[in-house]
Amino acid sequence: MDCIFCKIINGDIPSTKVYEDDKILAFEDINPCAPVHVVIIPKDHLLTCADDITEENSGIIAYIFSKIPEIARIKGLTNGYRIVNNCGEDGAQTVRHIHFHLVGGTKLTEKIC
Ligand code: AMP
Ligand code: ZN
Repeated sequence: MDCIFCKIINGDIPSTKVYEDDKILAFEDINPCAPVHVVIIPKDHLLTCADDITEENSGIIAYIFSKIPEIARIKGLTNGYRIVNNCGEDGAQTVRHIHFHLVGGTKLTEKIC
């Protein structure tokens, strides 16, 4: 499959791993927008974006969120952070493998967009 994130999971494209287990991978964003910018993905390329989430498949999303505090701790985010999901064309999503941006390490602007 021609998916950058699947290639990162397979090791075909290098990444700086922050956290990994059998279900998910978190790695440093190549183009960070804040002092800390981690991308968190499920290893299974099942969902392309938030629009694909259903009651049946949402377990992996809950799992990702259950691991976010640990990933934030690994990155030293002791004073809060922001989680972002870009979905589809209008969401300016560039990689169609569902992912969550964990950003922080500074006081972010109050305005989301
Ligand atoms: P989005 O615009 O929400 O689809 O975000 C995709 C993110 O993936 C962007 O923030 C990119 O900087 C990041 N990205 C793309 N290619 C790589 C890569 N090879 N390693 C790490 N991050 C990447
Ligand atoms: Zn993929």
